[in-house]
Amino acid sequence: MEEISEKIVIAIDGFSSCGKSTMAKELAAGIGYIYVDSGAMYRAVTLYCMQQGLLDGDIVDEQALSARMKDIDITFVRDANSGQLQTWLNGSDVETDIRNMAVSSKVSVVSSLPFVRQAMVACQRKIGEKKGIVMDGRDIGTTVFPNAELKIFVTASPETRAKRRVNEMLAKGQKVSFEEVLENVKKRDRMDQERAESPLRMAEDAILLDNSDMTIEQQNRWLLEQYERVVGPR
Ligand code: C5P
Repeated sequence: MEEISEKIVIAIDGFSSCGKSTMAKELAAGIGYIYVDSGAMYRAVTLYCMQQGLLDGDIVDEQALSARMKDIDITFVRDANSGQLQTWLNGSDVETDIRNMAVSSKVSVVSSLPFVRQAMVACQRKIGEKKGIVMDGRDIGTTVFPNAELKIFVTASPETRAKRRVNEMLAKGQKVSFEEVLENVKKRDRMDQERAESPLRMAEDAILLDNSDMTIEQQNRWLLEQYERVVGPR
């Protein structure tokens, strides 16, 4: 295979809570790339809708939201202590708030709106303009960066994913039940796959990874191997 010397774009898509961000973050840190969590952007728009009273059950006030899209400023700020990127919405750190169940239960509704997707995709393309980026999400390899040099599609059973998510939330002190999280995972899978605008699907040239029976170390190593296969060993 021909070696690529300049930086590339790495797209990591897949189902919710399947460990995409863990592996994407680790790879980006290891190879000196920028990591972007595109899901955090949809979560921040969802939180904005909740703050502004634009959600009534599963109904979004689309007219008001589309008029206010220009007022939504989402940035990623590196925390000085942890070194982790935190999501900021209009000048406030919302990293914790966007991960709660209230946001998780509405995010697929908001992310299905075509004008929301168009705005987020434009922003994501801008961030990835200079390459050297690892971005995770649902439509990165199919829509955002269809020419990405490396595309991965990650999956694991819904039960495995729900279990991981519950542990993650408990570790952060957020109380949730396994059943509630499993239901949310399945509902988001369904909505993400069935939406009309760039639904979740595997790009034809993506590599499939089922990490149900893999440790974090194993999946990190596997991903690094895929990267080195494209660019050559470092
Ligand atoms: O990745 P995460 O689970 O945080 O994403 C939250 C939600 O954001 C997904 O369930 C999906 O509805 C939406 N999303 C999306 N496209 C992306 C990333 C996330 O529609 N590229």
